[in-house]
Amino acid sequence: MPRLCQTDGLSEDQTEILKAVRQFVDEQIIPVAQELEHNDEYPQEIIDGLKELGVFGLTIPEEFGGLGESLLTYALVVEEIARGWMSVSGVINTHFIVAYMLVQHGTQEQKEKYLPRMATGEVRGAFSMSEPGLGSDVSAVSTKATRADDGSYSITGQKMWLTNGATSTLVAVLTKTDEGADSVYKNMTTFLVEKEAGFGETAQGVTVPGKIDKMGYKGVETTELILEDHRIGADQVLGGEPGKGFFQMMDGVEVGRVNVAARACGLAWRGFELGIAYAQQRKTFGKAIAEHQAVLFRLAEMATKVEVAHTMMVKAARLKDTGQRMDVEAGMAKMVASEYANEVVEDSFRIHGGYGYSKEYEIERLMREVKFMLIGEGTSDIQKMIIGRSLLKDYQLR
Ligand SMILES: Cc1cc2nc3c(=O)[nH]c(=O)nc-3n(C[C@H](O)[C@H](O)[C@H](O)COP(=O)(O)OP(=O)(O)OC[C@H]3O[C@@H](n4cnc5c(N)ncnc54)[C@H](O)[C@@H]3O)c2cc1C
Repeated sequence: MPRLCQTDGLSEDQTEILKAVRQFVDEQIIPVAQELEHNDEYPQEIIDGLKELGVFGLTIPEEFGGLGESLLTYALVVEEIARGWMSVSGVINTHFIVAYMLVQHGTQEQKEKYLPRMATGEVRGAFSMSEPGLGSDVSAVSTKATRADDGSYSITGQKMWLTNGATSTLVAVLTKTDEGADSVYKNMTTFLVEKEAGFGETAQGVTVPGKIDKMGYKGVETTELILEDHRIGADQVLGGEPGKGFFQMMDGVEVGRVNVAARACGLAWRGFELGIAYAQQRKTFGKAIAEHQAVLFRLAEMATKVEVAHTMMVKAARLKDTGQRMDVEAGMAKMVASEYANEVVEDSFRIHGGYGYSKEYEIERLMREVKFMLIGEGTSDIQKMIIGRSLLKDYQLR
């Protein structure tokens, strides 16, 4: 029985969902992940299986055809999936964020138009803030949406690093708009850009050039997105009102942070499992390496980090589910989980000795994948800025 990453107080439904996902991961993901990753092959069969399990509609309200589950359920599902193969959790992550933003900020028409088809996975979401010249500093967005006399918009600019950029058919794109506000943050608007799946010109004025070749996070594609005088109606402004894009995106990124924390937890968990198994098989100086105290202590530290990260991730998700503020907790969970995952995976790599450097061993893949956890949804430096600034407000001297 797994002892790590157990969560108290789950409902029967949550327990059943997690059991089904764990079985799917053990039977359908782990056995094929290595080969698909090395070939940088899209995991179509796995994605079809996840659609059948209802994962694409997990958090979409029941009235729109989803399962109406909580952020906690979603995060625990993501942790399980990332334990099998982190890239697969990336396929559902941007979809989940776009669905969340629609539920929170979309107009009733937008919800009715997209959420039922997102719940089945027919419409797939990507979200796009980053550009070649910016990632952390979202306020520097230069992609511009200009309003025409008839109220419609024309968007021109270059976007970068779109996870699911080719397989998605609905992209939440952050642009600069001129609302005449004195704050840069109030002059930004999120558009719901529809396109075909695939590469090349996928809609009028919307081009997805090709796949960015990455260190890890293979299988799932990451792309650029070129917008050249893309004509789009005012009804595609998220929430129907321009000038709110920055705040909508930050709300999406906040739940995205819990999501990346959960992915990091899954990677750390798997790293530990691989390490503790290998440490009992490999013998040096007449005994299993697990019996050398240095290795045993390493395993103990790894397991402790896995537990700390899991606990903080669960806390952040639960706060969100009860409607409480969780900016600090989400930032802490993301930072701790990603940094610990990096350390745990490296420790497991060290336990594997030379074999950890061989592509035959799973830990080699985890070593490359875990690096992305340090970057996605904000680096640790950015988390520290968010945590620190928020705490200064809470602990302001009177
Ligand atoms: C594989 C992959 C997939 C991605 N998917 C998406 C996606 O789907 N959608 C999307 O919009 N984006 C996506 N991104 C972009 C990602 O969010 C950014 O890469 C990330 O936010 C960091 O931004 P940057 O790369 O521009 O680094 P920069 O912002 O240039 O930062 C460079 C370094 O400077 C540090 N730094 C920056 N500012 C400060 C500061 N104020 N104080 C201290 N240190 C600072 C950073 O911590 C970092 O170490 C993806 C990126 C990758 C690699």
